[in-house]
Amino acid sequence: MRRVTGAALGIVVMGALVAPPAQARPQVEKKPVAEGYGGAVATVDLDASKIALDVLKHGGNAMDAVVAGAAALGVTEPYSAGLAGGGFIVYYDARSRRVINIDGRETAPAKMTPSTFEGIPFDQAVTSGLSVGVPGSVAQWDLALRRHGTLSLKKALKPAADLARKGFVVDQTFYDQTAANAARFADITSTAALYLPNGAPPPVGSTFRNPDLARTYQELADKGPSWLYGGKLGQEIVATVKAPPVTPGSTRNVRAGLMEVSDLRAYKALTPEPTKVRWNNLDVYGMAPPSSGGSTVGEALNILEYAGPVGLSEYLDASRLAFADRNAYVGDPAFVQVPLRELLSEGFAKERACLIGDTALPHPAAPGQPDGAYGPCATPAPAPGTKEQQPEGPETTHLVASDRWGNVAAYNITIEQTGGAGIVVPGRGVLLNNEMTDFTFGPAPGDPNLPAPGKRPRSSMAPTIVLKDGRPLLAVGSPGGATIITTVLQILVNRFTFGMSLPDALAAPRASQRNTAATQAEQAFIDRYGPELTAKGHTFTPTPEIGAATALEFLRHGKVQAVAEPARRGGGSALVVKD
Ligand code: GLU
Repeated sequence: MRRVTGAALGIVVMGALVAPPAQARPQVEKKPVAEGYGGAVATVDLDASKIALDVLKHGGNAMDAVVAGAAALGVTEPYSAGLAGGGFIVYYDARSRRVINIDGRETAPAKMTPSTFEGIPFDQAVTSGLSVGVPGSVAQWDLALRRHGTLSLKKALKPAADLARKGFVVDQTFYDQTAANAARFADITSTAALYLPNGAPPPVGSTFRNPDLARTYQELADKGPSWLYGGKLGQEIVATVKAPPVTPGSTRNVRAGLMEVSDLRAYKALTPEPTKVRWNNLDVYGMAPPSSGGSTVGEALNILEYAGPVGLSEYLDASRLAFADRNAYVGDPAFVQVPLRELLSEGFAKERACLIGDTALPHPAAPGQPDGAYGPCATPAPAPGTKEQQPEGPETTHLVASDRWGNVAAYNITIEQTGGAGIVVPGRGVLLNNEMTDFTFGPAPGDPNLPAPGKRPRSSMAPTIVLKDGRPLLAVGSPGGATIITTVLQILVNRFTFGMSLPDALAAPRASQRNTAATQAEQAFIDRYGPELTAKGHTFTPTPEIGAATALEFLRHGKVQAVAEPARRGGGSALVVKD
């Protein structure tokens, strides 16, 4: 979305406008589709894509590229990504021919209990120390690079530090996101100082620099992850969480958080087994719990496999059923028994698929019984106590990269809401996450996603890698809270069931059915498909925009197609190593 400054078309020397030197590289442009060889990237942002591509061009692999790219997104997309957030990586390792997961999800502090959020209005929890989870990104980057990368964390952070120092050109999306957050940013001194420099969002076209973040990345590069996980940076984060720097005179109730340095010391990135389903003669790998991404995308695909001829009505109802099960059964597997194998089994899929008919399923769909005893057509179980989900926004970001060796990375990184907790760590230039608001607030007896000490909140992030005959065919993911799941699902269905090209599959208008009465849908979807679907009993709530996906498809003879959004969130940036 933004370009690094200094890439001027001409250089003024002693008053004369001279052409750039002949050896200057041609300006790389922001475009949503690129095809070529030797590796590819797609992110929402040109600067981040360029940094990830540069890593590939200098011999780095796909893991190096997404880590460096994510750190860069922490600069140019600071409201969606950053070192004080978390995320999930799904990675195809070409050498072992295996798909792996790296879980960098934030965790709840040891003092958090199931009732911590009871009675707190959601919009108040959003801007609070209480919502800040123990950050996972840095531990995740470190583990990802040590296991699968070729760069050190120090090297991977350098381009992002340079970018933060040099700055980027503010575009409309950054301006709009800042403006949408201006009221709460103004109530936190450190956040107002950074993002509302003259009491207002930085204007479109101006250069935005974050020297504090540049120094933070540099010091993290020099000192390593322990600087955060127990060291000085960690201590400063804890101090900020416990006493957010509220602007004098502000009436906002910014609650203090529960994090201690011991919580930071205890943090570990994890490597769970990915989810896997067989669909359409493809192997679809996703993110394991505590994300519900892999299980819910996987279950919905499984249902579609047995739902007869698939059209949009079946797509919506498969999603509705999968969400009923997600809400009832998926949480952090270290704390709750998640019946993952059953949720992704053929028997369960058949039991759920047989509920789908010619007309829309009644609302709400009850969860099924993933108990291993599958009959021909099941009677849904009574719903355990699950709560209606919170509204979903456009937050978070997703990037993909592949390299010349055949490795593929799909990476969702987040600080939860756009703008996270709205609290910048003073002097460090980085926003804290508010990921703890992904827990169910309660009281909700039986809900698998209630907070607990050290627990990871259920996520919807769904980085996904599809293999055909054991080789990567596609990688895809998106931001958007729980709509991430439906966006990924819809892109897969568009591509492989409806036969669209990958660029068309991303650009197509979206609808998101998450076991709610009405389906959330973009206006273009309602205009195009509303009449036929309404006749079948579906109803729709219009929403301006769902998701901001990035994807790769591996074509014949080593060619790769990188795809980003043509329009959503201002459009994304796809680049390849060689055209
Ligand atoms: N916190 C969200 C999740 O993990 C991601 C951020 C978002 O897109 O809402 O599902």
